[in-house]
Amino acid sequence: MPHNLGVRKDVTVIGGGPVGLFAAFYAGLRGMSVRIIDSLPELGGQLTALYPEKYIYDMPGFPKVLAKELAVQMAEQAQMFGPELVLEETAQTLTEDEEGFLIGTGTAIYPTRTVIISAGAGAFSPTKLGVPLEEQYVGRGLSYGVREKSVFAGKRVLVVGGGDSAVDWCLNLEPIAKEITLVHRRDQFRAHEESVRQLEQSTVGMRLWQVIKELHGADQLEAVTIENSQTKELERVETDAVIVNVGFKSSLGPIKDWDLQIEKTQIVVNDQFETNRPGVFAVGDVCTFPSKMKLIATGVGEAAIAVGFAKLRLDPEAKLFPGHSSDMDLGTPS
Ligand SMILES: Cc1cc2nc3c(=O)[nH]c(=O)nc-3n(C[C@H](O)[C@H](O)[C@H](O)COP(=O)(O)OP(=O)(O)OC[C@H]3O[C@@H](n4cnc5c(N)ncnc54)[C@H](O)[C@@H]3O)c2cc1C
Repeated sequence: MPHNLGVRKDVTVIGGGPVGLFAAFYAGLRGMSVRIIDSLPELGGQLTALYPEKYIYDMPGFPKVLAKELAVQMAEQAQMFGPELVLEETAQTLTEDEEGFLIGTGTAIYPTRTVIISAGAGAFSPTKLGVPLEEQYVGRGLSYGVREKSVFAGKRVLVVGGGDSAVDWCLNLEPIAKEITLVHRRDQFRAHEESVRQLEQSTVGMRLWQVIKELHGADQLEAVTIENSQTKELERVETDAVIVNVGFKSSLGPIKDWDLQIEKTQIVVNDQFETNRPGVFAVGDVCTFPSKMKLIATGVGEAAIAVGFAKLRLDPEAKLFPGHSSDMDLGTPS
């Protein structure tokens, strides 16, 4: 059991996707202290993890906006009132104490007065290569994303995948790495057309119709065996680093064990977005009610209502509707 005990917050938002980000902003607007927990290293939920390069056309005020750009703006708005950010930790347990709730992540325990679950389809984790010894090389040359570009300076890097993330990382690392090679199991890309065009004009090497079958190295990764999926021919390729970008899996996982009423994979809420556990709210893709629509536009409305009822729980004298933001003096956000 971890001993690291956080400061008690008025509300802890589990999930930093668009709906959780708006919940965090709105709770800050209502003068509540806020914490956001997300299992990923970056805020934005599905927008950043699943479709960063796609355009969204149904956001009020944006006739067309790239998902990753919307995520950046929503993350900035969410941080306007200085919430505590806990990234790369997954909420595993939810227990009660005399002042509210304790959320355990395995790294720390986070006390909170109320909880808003905006966990989407559940915690994301990167899809693995599924080859022997994979765990052993994680952090020793094998990674599932890029935290710090400088780590790859002057190195021979293999990037695995054919989607936006893989193509983007090839282009991003090309100026600093010694050599970049893209390993993709097909010859078609699921990436933005313009990125693929840039890739074709770059110095990035292409290994198409190839998959990684084995990893080699003493302590650090030194080489891989790749297989041509058409001819089944095997080849050993020397490398310093492999970056795997073959998508994410999501799972409601531990939330299923929190004594919440669940229908299929969603948490049942009432018209206040409260679950069967008083003080625990659920909003966005993770919640269900009779007229549920899984959209960002409706999810952020759910978040504002849930925040209102969380506020009322802490301060019964407070109003559900706080007034318009345009009537509040919020200064000029930078
Ligand atoms: C390809 C695609 C295109 C789409 N296009 C549109 C569109 O055009 N318009 C639109 O409105 N919607 C669109 N959507 C749907 C939209 O992205 C979702 O409705 C929205 O992302 C839901 O937001 P959310 O915050 O509820 O959940 P998510 O975005 O799923 O975020 C949930 C977050 O919670 C985290 N999490 C989960 N469990 C835990 C845990 N136990 N501990 C810590 N963190 C946890 C996850 O890591 C994740 O970051 C699209 C979806 C896809 C897949």
